Parts: sequence; C-alpha cells; structure tokens
Amino acid sequence: MGEKHKVLIMKCDTYDADKIAGIVKYGMDQLNVIPSGNILLKPNVVIAHKELFPHAFTRKEFLDGVISATKEKAKNVKEISIGERSGITIPTRFNFKHAGYPEVIKKHRVKTYYFDEERHVPFKLKKEVNLRDSMFFPKPIVDCDFLINLPKFKAHPWCRLTLSLKNFIGIQDDKHRLVDHNSFLEHKIADLQEVIQPGFIAIDAITAGQKMMLTPTPFDMGAIVMGINSCAVDSVCAHMVNVDPKDIIHLKFASERGFGPMNLDQIEVMGDFPLDEMQKKTKNFEFCMEHIDNYFDKSPNLNCTIGTFPEKHSSDYCWGGCPGSLQETMHIFKAFYPEIEKEMGKVRYVVGKVEGPLNLEKGEKVIFAGDCTSWKGEIDGEHVKIESSYKTTSEVDEKKAKSNDMQMKIISASVHALFNKKRYIHMKGCPTSVAQNVNYLSSMAKIPNLNFDYRLVFGVNAGYYKMRFKRFFNHLLG
Ligand code: SF4
Repeated sequence: MGEKHKVLIMKCDTYDADKIAGIVKYGMDQLNVIPSGNILLKPNVVIAHKELFPHAFTRKEFLDGVISATKEKAKNVKEISIGERSGITIPTRFNFKHAGYPEVIKKHRVKTYYFDEERHVPFKLKKEVNLRDSMFFPKPIVDCDFLINLPKFKAHPWCRLTLSLKNFIGIQDDKHRLVDHNSFLEHKIADLQEVIQPGFIAIDAITAGQKMMLTPTPFDMGAIVMGINSCAVDSVCAHMVNVDPKDIIHLKFASERGFGPMNLDQIEVMGDFPLDEMQKKTKNFEFCMEHIDNYFDKSPNLNCTIGTFPEKHSSDYCWGGCPGSLQETMHIFKAFYPEIEKEMGKVRYVVGKVEGPLNLEKGEKVIFAGDCTSWKGEIDGEHVKIESSYKTTSEVDEKKAKSNDMQMKIISASVHALFNKKRYIHMKGCPTSVAQNVNYLSSMAKIPNLNFDYRLVFGVNAGYYKMRFKRFFNHLLG
C-alpha cells in the first residue's frame, strides 16, 4: 500500500482571522503545501446575507486567515485571487459584498474573479464514464496553477453533505451549471473534478450548517479540516458527522474514478481534534434528506404529489432537481416571512409522472413542476393534459444551454403567471431553479415576491447591472 493521504482536524472555536491563519500555516507545514504560480482560492458563497443567510457561506475571517497563511507559505507567486459563482441568478458580487469579502480582498490586495462575469471556455474531458466529452469552465479555473478549495461544512438536502467535491458546482456560470443538475447531479459533481485537483483544502467547520444549504441551522463544530485530496478530506468529514462515505454518492463516484480514497485505512487522520471526540460531539447533527411529500406533510397550505422519474438509476425520486428546489425555496421564504406557510394560499406541487386524480381541495392551485412532469385528468371540469418534454443527458447540447439570466427569469415567470387565468400552471425547466420556484410560488400562492423585497431589490439589481457590464467587457476583451 502506498503512502496514506493525510487529513487534519484542528480545533478552532472562533472566527479569529489571526488564529485561523496560525492553524492553516501549521496545516500547510504538516502537508508540505507550497502554493505557487496562479493561486486561486475558491470559497463557498452560494448565498450570503448577515440577517437572512448568515451560515450559508465560508466566513470572511476564514478567507482572511487562509490568505495570510498562503502569502507566507507561497513561492514563485504570479497571482493570488479569489473566484466563485454563487447560486444561480443572484450576482456573485452581491453575495461577496454581503459576506464581507471586499474588505478582506482590499486588505490583502488580491484579485477577484466573479465567475459569472468571466469568459467560459470548453475543456475536454478524458474519462469515458463522464456524462460529456467536454464541459465549460471559467478561464481563471483553466489557467489556475494552484487551487485552494475553501468549502463551508454543511449538510445538503440533495447530496447529504456539501464539502470539497461539491464545492466545484460553483465553478460554472449560470448557463452551464444547470446542465445535468437533475438526477445526474452526483455524476456531474464527479465529472467536474477532472478540470483541476486542489493543491490544498481547508474546510470552514467552525460553525457548520445543518439540514439545508441556503438556510442552514448553525452547529458549533469548532474545527478546521485540512488536506490535499478531496476524496480523503470528504471521507473524513463524513465520518466526523457519523455518515458512511459510501452514502455520499458523488464521493463514491469520484473515488471509483481514481480521484482518491474513501477508506479510513488509506487515510491518516491527524490534528488535535480526535475523530471519535468529534463523532460524539456531532451525535445530534441534523440532515434533511427527505422526499418533499413527507417533508411538507404537516404544512397547512402546501401539498406535494410525487410521481415517477425518467432515469432508471433514480426512478423513485429526482434528488438533484425540482423537489430540492422547492425545499430550498420554502426555507428562503421562511427566512423572510417566518409565518409564510400559514399565510400562503393553498398550492399543490406536482412533479414527475403522476397518474390518477389529484383530489384537489377547494381553491387549491396546482404547479406542475419541471419538464419531466406529466399528468392527465380533470380540473374544474376541464380536461387537462400536461406532457413531458424531458430530454436525457445525451439529448441536451451544453453548447446551446440557456443563459438563465436573472431578469429574463423574473420577466418570463411573471408574464407566464400574469396571463395564466387557470388554476394550474406548468413551470418548465430541468431542473426548475430556486429562482423560478420563488417566482411561480409567489404568483400561485399569492405571497410577496422576494425579488422585490427591499432587503434585496436594490443591491441585487445594482450587482446585476454591474455584472452584465463587466461580463460584456470581459467577453469583448476575449
Ligand atoms: S424536470 Fe425536475 S424533477 Fe424532472 S428530471 Fe428534471 S430536474 Fe428532475
């Protein structure tokens, strides 16, 4: 057996940038890490807002500490930069601002790459098992010599956990990110690993997130996890919260493709936070891998009807797509309006191939969600036929992917809902995004549209127009 992959779990119970820098420097020494060349730091800033989404992102103090350590340990540096694409439609620059990143970036004089503003270039993939022969990536990722991956330790409602491997979803722009973001999500995450392997990984597990990824419940884990191999790091993190690594499907795929080990026999777990001590601490760490019909079972006004799904490997549920988008959407609504589930109008959310009557309640509206959804029956005496337009992965050309532009999404959903005089509506997409679900739910359940909430509307739109301008400029320059 070759040398074991080293993973460190270090105690750290506070977001103190100097303390974090010290721990990360120690980790880099233990792992013989010497960053060089074009060094790119990739945090997880899927969404950020001090009041609304305080635990969803890699904290600014963490970023600050890692940059300090990197500057001290690096040799032959060409550039140090931070790069990320937040959750789709919301401009990354808006989320960076709300994560407090600009002050850290200014302090360290490092470059920023908002991947939604950068040029994306095709990259050839070699492994036969991949979904596609090539994928699109931002140029700074392709040009990067040394990637430092900085995930936030969080539970995830579709993938169980989001750690190093899953953090790669944030390296694609809106146009390409949603391609295969359905029941092939776990395959896609494994495919993404081929573009680059990190030179160093440091996971912000000081305050970890439970249950959801956008609105997680905080958990004081008090740790920083470090390593240089994504599979080894993610496997140790899985054990930290008493999960068998084999239950994280993308980790299993990545390991089977030779990206690294899953077995603790092949990993040397180091650091000052013993794994068994951590496992005791996280005995009650909460996850949320539940089908939406069960999950919203007790909701007074939201009911879900789940059918069957087109792909053989996941015909009973679609973990990477529309059902999860609905869960995240409802949690976002609750962050803004805690009583929303009581106050909203009655809605039935129908997804998948559904057969038989829906037995709607009086006044209950219906959202048929996603391209794969089909149903036929009567609603208010009218014969209704919803047809599936689902395309499997080989039928979807990534080069012709839609832009998923924020304004277009809001406008098209608003116009669709405005001219829809019926009790039901078919929300198209595979997947339907969280942003789309927000728009359609607002209109069908008669709840305020978050896109127009005063806490978001000005900042998001200012960020959007800056993003459009910069993207145009970057594309012009080539
Ligand atoms: S339409 Fe939605 S639920 Fe259906 S396969 Fe696509 S992502 Fe999954």
